[in-house]
Amino acid sequence: MTFAVSASGPFNRMHSLDAIFKPRSIAVIGATPRPGSIGREILGNLFANEFNGKIFPVNPKYEYIHSTKTYPSVTEIPDPVDLAVIVVPAARVLGVVQECAKKGVKGLVIITAGFREIGPEGAKLEDAIIAVASEHGMRMIGPNCMGVIDATPEVRMNATFSPGVPPSGTVAFMTQSGALGVAILLAVQKLGLGFSYFASVGNKADVGAMDLLEYWEDDRHTQLIAMYLESFGDPRRFTEMSKRISKTKPIVVVKSGTSAAGARAASSHTGSLAGLEVASDALLQQCGVNRVSSIEEMIHVVAGFVGAPIPRGNRLCIVTNAGGPAIMAVDAADGHGLQIATLSETTRAAMRKALPAEASVENPVAMVASADHDQYERVLDLALADDHVDLAIAIFVPPLMIEPLEVIRRITKVARARAKPVYSVLMAEESYYERIPREVPNAVPIFRFPEDAVKVAEHTNRYRLWRSRPAGEVCSFRVDKALARKWVEKKRHTGGGYLGPEETREILEAYGFPTVRQAVVAVEGDMRAAARSLAFPVALKVVGEKIVHKSDVGGVILGIPDEKALALARDTMRASLERAGVLGHATGFLVQEMAGDASGKEVILGVAQDPKFGPLLMFGMGGRYVEILRDVAFRVLPVTDIDAREMVRSIRSFPLLQGVRGESPVDVEFIEEMILRLAQLVDEVPGVEELDLNPVIVTPDRASCRVVDARIRVAAVDGTGRSRPSG
Ligand code: ADP
Ligand code: MG
Repeated sequence: MTFAVSASGPFNRMHSLDAIFKPRSIAVIGATPRPGSIGREILGNLFANEFNGKIFPVNPKYEYIHSTKTYPSVTEIPDPVDLAVIVVPAARVLGVVQECAKKGVKGLVIITAGFREIGPEGAKLEDAIIAVASEHGMRMIGPNCMGVIDATPEVRMNATFSPGVPPSGTVAFMTQSGALGVAILLAVQKLGLGFSYFASVGNKADVGAMDLLEYWEDDRHTQLIAMYLESFGDPRRFTEMSKRISKTKPIVVVKSGTSAAGARAASSHTGSLAGLEVASDALLQQCGVNRVSSIEEMIHVVAGFVGAPIPRGNRLCIVTNAGGPAIMAVDAADGHGLQIATLSETTRAAMRKALPAEASVENPVAMVASADHDQYERVLDLALADDHVDLAIAIFVPPLMIEPLEVIRRITKVARARAKPVYSVLMAEESYYERIPREVPNAVPIFRFPEDAVKVAEHTNRYRLWRSRPAGEVCSFRVDKALARKWVEKKRHTGGGYLGPEETREILEAYGFPTVRQAVVAVEGDMRAAARSLAFPVALKVVGEKIVHKSDVGGVILGIPDEKALALARDTMRASLERAGVLGHATGFLVQEMAGDASGKEVILGVAQDPKFGPLLMFGMGGRYVEILRDVAFRVLPVTDIDAREMVRSIRSFPLLQGVRGESPVDVEFIEEMILRLAQLVDEVPGVEELDLNPVIVTPDRASCRVVDARIRVAAVDGTGRSRPSG
């Protein structure tokens, strides 16, 4: 017997956020005819955009507003209400939300401010609202936001107080700041870019970036997702989702809170603390997000993605009627992943025919200043037809007699016909930038300066690389997890802190790191026994939780050739420690076999905990100058094999690892493996607060690579089993 399966594909599946973005009826609670008020603007926008559903103003003071019957309370509306947009004063919001629950409202957009962002009192009120909403299964946007827009043709809802009618298009936009939201809406409208959705999420009491990413992932109207973020909700979820979604839809993110001052502003602003900058950088880089550093750059990049196809390669051709801007473009492209294309002889010959003798048909193709629309069309077409060209920048500085709109029209025509991206630089009088979106339908992206166009090309090219990049795998090596956990747990139950040298070595060995043979000797202990178990030459080091940089206090002596020298070295070291005033901190000495040789390079592998992002993995050039060189790369978990590969290659000194001046390259693959092993360790062994392997001496042969200095600090476990950072 067979059963019929219902044909409910992704398009007719109901999503809980449909209550907010696809309502059939909206109550505007706090609607008012009072000029200059938000309650009036929102109602006005819903009418002006011809919302495809019912609208119910709610305000006990009015019988009707804008000729529309007005209700004293949401519970008195006779029809069902899907969405309530709430603009009443903060003190009344909770009561209104309770009424919405009674009425069976499914979605809330709370515009009102005065909650978590103002302090503990506000936070309490916000928590009470969250409780009511979640108890009744209502999804909520805000509070402290500027509303939402669904500009898709079938809904046409503008439930914001931003002026203007947002055109319908393919960009879904989320912002954590309402004020910036207004600015962006206006800027984007000017460019003629259209939205699918817009959401100002404010305090993110319920709906946040992750929910929206998920909602827009399958949405057929949305081709690009743009976000202004001040903080991430759950960084690990964000990574996983954006990794997946960015494979099909570009995600452009402006992440603010970059400086320490910025982070403080972010926390007072929407009541959330911004993540550590290095962590958010690592995170965004890892998940294919196009990170931009300003709103302006975001608008450019969005325009670039929406107005042109993704390039199929990185070979750029520049066509121009002016020398200076073309030189600027070439300079800007240098070293950012773009290549200046070499045009084929056929292309150049054809261009020569199309242009006067003074023109240059090398790339940049410099037509004469008087080049007209016909020449732009012909030359750009030849450039795009060339198999050595993947994308083009067409620069036009209008001389008096040439009509810019016609030039842009022709550039657009060829770009569309050849289906390759063309970014246009128009250095014209102000009015043209507003006329083009209205008068040249489907125009190529237009920028005012060559650097802007190049920046966009960089982004789209990077996105191309990301799309073709394999996702990679999180690796799992055979390790002795139980042993590592045993040592960490033991320390955690005795107050936490730094593990001793022997436990540290055992943990590292349990996870397959190559350590050096070593022996620990008490401060007054006998060096001879230690020396007998090791092969000379050896290194002598001081041991002590409080001694962080041993070399700084004379606590490292290298290359000790024999037993006699070892005894002497100990005396020397004690004297140095005494002088530095740290002899009392020494709990013993460590005798280690010497590792590495002339071919060795020192790298660092490390782990730090970020309060928001969890464990951060670090790799870089190691040794004593780490802090000065700062040549390191960070990743958040999960770290895949591809991430490890990119991490190693992303540091400036990578060429040193490959060998310079006839040196052999070190075993880079083994470094990648160690990164993955470290990722596995922090994932499997809870409580590691800080870990430093500095240096790991790496050599051409993995068999002689060694970790020669390691420190692991673990968190104490308190009575309830929660961990807290140890001193
Ligand atoms: P610290 O970082 O506390 O100053 P290290 O143990 O890292 O002390 O030693 C300092 C430097 O000495 C290392 O960067 C490395 O160059 C060298 N070194 C330390 N131990 C060894 C060893 N066993 N074999 C070879 N070189 C070593
Ligand atoms: Mg060290």
